Amino acid sequence: MTEAASYREHFTVTVPGESLMLQFGDKIARAISDVHNLNNQTVSKQALLIELSGDLGAGKTTISRGILNGLGHSDSVKSPTYTLVEPYELPLGRVCHFDFYRLIDPEELEYMGFRDYLAEACLCLIEWPERGHGFLPDADIEIGIIQAGEGRTLSFKAGSDLGNKIILAVQEQ
Ligand code: ADP
Ligand code: MG
Repeated sequence: MTEAASYREHFTVTVPGESLMLQFGDKIARAISDVHNLNNQTVSKQALLIELSGDLGAGKTTISRGILNGLGHSDSVKSPTYTLVEPYELPLGRVCHFDFYRLIDPEELEYMGFRDYLAEACLCLIEWPERGHGFLPDADIEIGIIQAGEGRTLSFKAGSDLGNKIILAVQEQ
């Protein structure tokens, strides 16, 4: 089996309503923390990258809020639409929440020092990753969110061994 073939963990889940979305974010946070504790060295080398795709209003910021709250951030979570990035200092380490919706050219990521964020954070959550195409390394986990009636369907796909472990840990909860 090639290495790429082992990174195939994926699943979908339908989450009806904002509060369950926040709870699901908390689940993801717990899985990240568990795997981080088991795998400290791997994670600290470069940030774990989670990409969040979906239309405006899909729920990308909401799930990010659930993840950030689950990792110990108790205040409100601002959407980084205008600032491009909001950093958080949490027990796990630095977590950076990005929103690339307003990127005009992916090259802007060079100017904002995106590489430094990747090197210094332990986790990066990225909304609108499509807009950073060519400047983003491969994600550990891709989360796609689509409308499903009144709720949302989330599709998870692992892009690395670490992403695989986290997705398995989410499913085991
Ligand atoms: P995005 O960041 O993708 O543009 P937001 O997270 O800001 O979207 O969410 C937009 C709206 O969707 C919010 O009003 C939020 O309450 C609602 N929402 C988020 N998740 C869900 C869900 N699972 N089911 C129903 N509504 C949701
Ligand atoms: Mg958003």
